[in-house]
Amino acid sequence: LTFEDFKLNKQLLNAISELGYEKPTPVQQQTIPLALAGHDVMGIAQTGTGKTAAYVLPLLMKVKYAQGKHPRALILAPTRELVLQIEENIQKFSAYLDLRTVGIYGGVGPKSQIERIQAGIDILVATPGRLMDIYRKGEVILKELKTLVLDEADKMMDMGFMPQIRQILEIIPRKRQNLLFSATMHERVHILSEEFLEFPMVVEV
Ligand code: AMP
Repeated sequence: LTFEDFKLNKQLLNAISELGYEKPTPVQQQTIPLALAGHDVMGIAQTGTGKTAAYVLPLLMKVKYAQGKHPRALILAPTRELVLQIEENIQKFSAYLDLRTVGIYGGVGPKSQIERIQAGIDILVATPGRLMDIYRKGEVILKELKTLVLDEADKMMDMGFMPQIRQILEIIPRKRQNLLFSATMHERVHILSEEFLEFPMVVEV
């Protein structure tokens, strides 16, 4: 199986080949077709397996080009480091796409993050706490979301983000695609998946 076997566009295939990726990893082989087909996916995969590209590539096919002002995809991650890493991955894969991606996280003032959001964005990568802070200030509109990703869901549970995640689930559109990734299949992750995934396809590597 090669990346050309997926229904990805030329711009993405060019970016992938420039990154030197020769073939999809197991989690990518299984996740990409399911996510492209519109399914909710629950992926049990550790860091290092290529899980980021597994959800970012289908997400980029869906968002595709800059449109409007408000984000159409939201990726939640537990830490600033992971937010920055995901943002960097998206920038690389979208080298030939015209997309606006912003990463937001705590520990720094919200002002410049809010300014970047206000300039218009397509993809928002966020830690749950900072997203709720900015949402409560009325500085981000989430009603255009079509895709939600929870990355390192088990770590988000461990860090006590469940209340914020529940709040976020209540304020975003019900009709959307959900992609959840977790290193482990703990009971709490299972409960979370039952709460917010619809007929998920499970991918385990
Ligand atoms: P991740 O598990 O998403 O953190 O990715 C781990 C590392 O593998 C990152 O440095 C990626 O750039 C790299 N990677 C992801 N997919 C591939 C692939 N298909 N071929 C080669 N390297 C990859």
